[in-house]
Amino acid sequence: MSDRKRLTTTAGSPMPTNEYSMTAGKRGPVLMQDYQLIEKLAHQNRERIPERVVHAKGWGAMGTLTITNDISKYTCAKIFSDVGKKTEVLARWSTVAGEQGAADAERDVRGFSLKFYTEEGNWDLVGNNTPVFFVRDAYKFPDFIRTQKRHPKTNLRSPEAMFDFWAAQPESVHQVTILMSDRGIPANPARMNGYGSHTFSLWNDKGERFWVKFHFKTMMGHKTYTNEQAEEIIGKTRESYQEDLYNMIEEGNFPKWRMMIQVMPEEDAGKQPYNPFDLTKVWPHDDYPLIEVGELEMNENPENYFMYVENAAYSPSNIVPGIGFSPDKMLQGRIFAYADAHRYRLGTHYEQLPANHAKAAKDVNFYHKDGSMRFFPPKTGHVDAYYEPNQYDEAAVADPSVAEPPLKIDGDADRYDPADPDADYVQPRALYAEVLSEDERKRLHLNMARAMAPCSDSVKERWYAVLGKVSPDYEAGVRKAADDLEAGNIDDYPGIPVTDDTPVRAAE
Ligand code: NDP
Repeated sequence: MSDRKRLTTTAGSPMPTNEYSMTAGKRGPVLMQDYQLIEKLAHQNRERIPERVVHAKGWGAMGTLTITNDISKYTCAKIFSDVGKKTEVLARWSTVAGEQGAADAERDVRGFSLKFYTEEGNWDLVGNNTPVFFVRDAYKFPDFIRTQKRHPKTNLRSPEAMFDFWAAQPESVHQVTILMSDRGIPANPARMNGYGSHTFSLWNDKGERFWVKFHFKTMMGHKTYTNEQAEEIIGKTRESYQEDLYNMIEEGNFPKWRMMIQVMPEEDAGKQPYNPFDLTKVWPHDDYPLIEVGELEMNENPENYFMYVENAAYSPSNIVPGIGFSPDKMLQGRIFAYADAHRYRLGTHYEQLPANHAKAAKDVNFYHKDGSMRFFPPKTGHVDAYYEPNQYDEAAVADPSVAEPPLKIDGDADRYDPADPDADYVQPRALYAEVLSEDERKRLHLNMARAMAPCSDSVKERWYAVLGKVSPDYEAGVRKAADDLEAGNIDDYPGIPVTDDTPVRAAE
């Protein structure tokens, strides 16, 4: 026996071999009593857990948020209490539609999820690399996702389904425009912005509430790929994000973002021409300027991908005192749906896994009892206190001082359809006409024409009508790009200029 560690069964018994089955005779059949062989094969069968229905392909890292500006007048959240304060973060970025084996450099929205391990529990910001989304009501979310997934008969992705849905849904055109713009294929997670996307709230020690949008602006600069560049990369590797991210962090070239917020006083909601709780809308910067908060740096690769990235369970329901929700309908739906996905995917007590447990919190006390993965002692404070209220002074009780200030709500309970559909075209129009350059618009036209090329004429015409309402130039540009594409006449469309001297791929 060498001085290496002894191999044991999972029950701790030393193992004589990990290579040779027990057989009846030298060339005979394997004996059923070779339980460790059965155990080994059975474990292999269970090495996968249910794939996330959305955001299955992901890349993760650990890092730190450092506060650089005092925002305590808006919030009493401890994470923001002092300039210079540092909080550990677990980040996961992802594509939305692809399965776990999908290529990284595909055109898609990217998930941008952050778990902040704060002293008052975990705060999860489960956002995207875009400030808006395809739909504003959770009723539409499962249908939207179905259009992004595989057709039941062909088992292929279906542009017909995607554009059919979007054409019936003008609220989607803002997000689809961003998706088909240069920002639809970021070079890697470090080269894109992150957005909390929803409107959340902050509340301070005086009980004042502010509506808030969270932004994370890449400090490495935006870098994106054209379809052609992405095809070339995918031809070489499907794992370009994982490679870039892993290598950047190993080399000490840490991805960084500037954390910023937009703040709206509670009583301002309702004064804008748009609904500030509509996930298909941004708050224009001129109306609500960005306020600096801190710097996010990702500086550590997890020792085990599965343990920290696959097991990471992000849910917008995880807020901490000083941060709250808003009436955003999609947010309200996700508060339920995300935690429920984790209960199904990981098990009842998923919050106690190493990736998810509130490791920086002073107290983690709760009365949830049994169920899958009950691998920890009771956390109620007293062995006999498995219910509440109870007679035991050591047992945990709620703290009314952390209650959020009351939110005044009025109106009739009803199912409201937004009264002004024209409002859905205003912000994509600003993006198209005022933010994008001439070259960016041309690339947008071509990307859109390519994406909708397989669709039926009726779906195309319905979508052109939506684009025409954003801007007649937008519709005309995509129609022309479709003609140019069909005629093989696209050489004059501009590529993306190299704006800095960083390599196209960090790993290269
Ligand atoms: P601003 O001129 O103040 O800002 C424009 C914003 O657009 C910047 O945040 C910029 O991000 C972002 N941007 C640039 N190119 C793209 C693209 N291809 N896809 C997505 N975003 C892009 O504008 P306003 O605040 O007045 O908003 C005008 C329009 O800009 C909005 O209707 C919306 O479509 C878009 N936008 C607005 C945001 C907001 O929160 N106000 C956020 C993102 C987009 P960066 O600074 O990193 O270059």
